[in-house]
Amino acid sequence: MKRRDFIKYSAVGLGVAGLYGPNAFAAGQNRRRVVVVGGGFGGATAARYIKLIDPSIDVVLIEKNDQFVSCPISNWVVVGMKKMGDISFGYQGLAKRGIQVIQDEIVGIDAAAGYVQGKKGKVEYDRLIVSPGIDFRYDLIEGFNDEAKKIFPHAYKAGPQTVQLQQQLQALQPGGTVLMTVPDNAYRCPPGPYERASLIAEYLQKNKQGSKLIILDPHQKIASKGKLFKAAWDAYYTDIIDYRPEEIIASVDVDKKTISTYEEEFEADVINFIPDQKAGKLAFDLGLVPEKKLWAPVQPLTLESTLVPGVHVIGDATDSLTSGPMPKSGFVASSMGKVAAAAVVAELSGKKAPLPSFANTCYSMVNSTEAIFVTGVYKYDSASGKNIKIPEASKTSPGRSDYYGRCAEDWATSIWSDMLS
Ligand SMILES: Cc1cc2nc3c(=O)[nH]c(=O)nc-3n(C[C@H](O)[C@H](O)[C@H](O)COP(=O)(O)OP(=O)(O)OC[C@H]3O[C@@H](n4cnc5c(N)ncnc54)[C@H](O)[C@@H]3O)c2cc1C
Repeated sequence: MKRRDFIKYSAVGLGVAGLYGPNAFAAGQNRRRVVVVGGGFGGATAARYIKLIDPSIDVVLIEKNDQFVSCPISNWVVVGMKKMGDISFGYQGLAKRGIQVIQDEIVGIDAAAGYVQGKKGKVEYDRLIVSPGIDFRYDLIEGFNDEAKKIFPHAYKAGPQTVQLQQQLQALQPGGTVLMTVPDNAYRCPPGPYERASLIAEYLQKNKQGSKLIILDPHQKIASKGKLFKAAWDAYYTDIIDYRPEEIIASVDVDKKTISTYEEEFEADVINFIPDQKAGKLAFDLGLVPEKKLWAPVQPLTLESTLVPGVHVIGDATDSLTSGPMPKSGFVASSMGKVAAAAVVAELSGKKAPLPSFANTCYSMVNSTEAIFVTGVYKYDSASGKNIKIPEASKTSPGRSDYYGRCAEDWATSIWSDMLS
């Protein structure tokens, strides 16, 4: 049987024992195959753009979940502005383009032989792109056991915990206390916790009279779009938000339902604990993160790993000391997906990778209608051999407005289409 016959099964949710067994996807003599692991902002975009640039390349996307759930707009779900169904999408659009979508969790690699090993089977590749996202550093907090993980949701990977936090807020009695923590650098979506705080504050104001929101932040001040968030909080939420900078969390107590810094113990009815972060487990499992480090170093031009040749790492998992001063955002992950796609297609054709550039726009709601934003553009600088920020193209919005709020929703609709359609 020819390899192409093997991969004719219908895309998501393989479900046919044996096909995805050893060598079921052995790379062909003449055709070239790129395997992409992780179907989030980086990986889905990379898979789609490889097919767009060169349809003759076999593209296989391996994702452990059966659907994509978007973190952008998930804060809206937490306060009931949107539903989970509005931020959850299947991979049929990519399958229709001829991308083989496999639901499996990758657990290992043989880079010399050129294959990745999943729980269900293995796939050979000519080039590999991985975009595994982030994981959480619970080990830094004393007492953060499995029970703590259950009752103090992070809701920072969109999914069941998004709903859990929403339900905890709904169950709060008027006059209650909500506490949330901000992670230390580097972390996914620098403005994300502050957008969430703004929306929760408005939710409490409208639905839970007399309630308070305590924010414990390790930074000296709001870490992203600081002036804009502060102006909105001063205008709308002075009686609700108790913002505390330079607070480092030391421990939690599940029985007492408290959270403690080195100086003070806090009790709250709802605790949204967003832990410090590191590259997703997959990056460690594949040997893409150096000993005692947290993120995966890459070549700035092609985003190829500096540790494992033939493997490109994109998205939040990358080490920004090597990839460039971009924030860990969905927009940047998607930009990286396009850069890696172009680099891989060039390499497979024996050409030089084009010079990369990256963009970021990040909207944050400060209430259910008004948003603020930040933009950034980055390019490769031949003199330093690094990706650098272009200052004149990097700005924040002049203020907040309903119009930017509508743009925020349009931005999400457009990037979802650019990665999944
Ligand atoms: C509340 C919140 C709001 C945000 N708002 C914005 C915003 O407005 N704008 C913006 O640009 N960004 C925003 N972000 C950030 C954005 O979500 C991330 O930067 C983006 O998801 C990073 O993309 P990624 O591809 O690196 O990771 P992800 O999108 O997390 O994708 C990783 C994928 O890899 C899969 N995976 C992991 N390990 C394996 C494995 N072993 N095998 C198979 N599959 C695996 C995962 O299931 C996942 O689907 C927000 C984040 C949060 C939490």
